[in-house]
Amino acid sequence: MSTSPNCPFCRIVTGQIPAAVVLATDDALAFLDIGPLADGHTLLVPKSHYPTLGDMPPDALQRLTGHLPALTGAIMSVTGASGFNLLQNNGSAAGQVVDHVHFHIIPRTEGDGLGFRWNAGSYAPGRADALCQAIQAALRH
Ligand code: 5GP
Ligand code: ZN
Repeated sequence: MSTSPNCPFCRIVTGQIPAAVVLATDDALAFLDIGPLADGHTLLVPKSHYPTLGDMPPDALQRLTGHLPALTGAIMSVTGASGFNLLQNNGSAAGQVVDHVHFHIIPRTEGDGLGFRWNAGSYAPGRADALCQAIQAALRH
């Protein structure tokens, strides 16, 4: 397990700072977010320090996300939420503040006012095709 000394989530993993831990396994930890957007807002993190999703080996990511069905089910049943948002920010441009991979589980109830719709755009003619082909080519490399 690799940790980073100044990372708050590594410090939670190693017990240097406290957290309300709801799930702990050999390689994963889930704890309540200190600044909840809703009751039960939880963060699921790998115990090893990976800054972003792209830094994580696929098998480690698979093990981590494997906890989501049971974890989200437990959070929903305890909070009485009727839905949840899964949010995973990568890079400061996307709002990532803590550089240790984490999934936000944000319980939702009808009319809670949190919102989530972003302003959708549209493609100029040919742009979607060009992007699609470029992404397909990048995936082949
Ligand atoms: P990000 O914007 O990086 O996706 O979200 C980081 C989240 O981590 C924020 O929602 C913030 O409230 C939470 N957070 C930051 N520091 C701590 C901490 O020390 N303990 C806990 N439990 N949550 C934290
Ligand atoms: Zn870390």
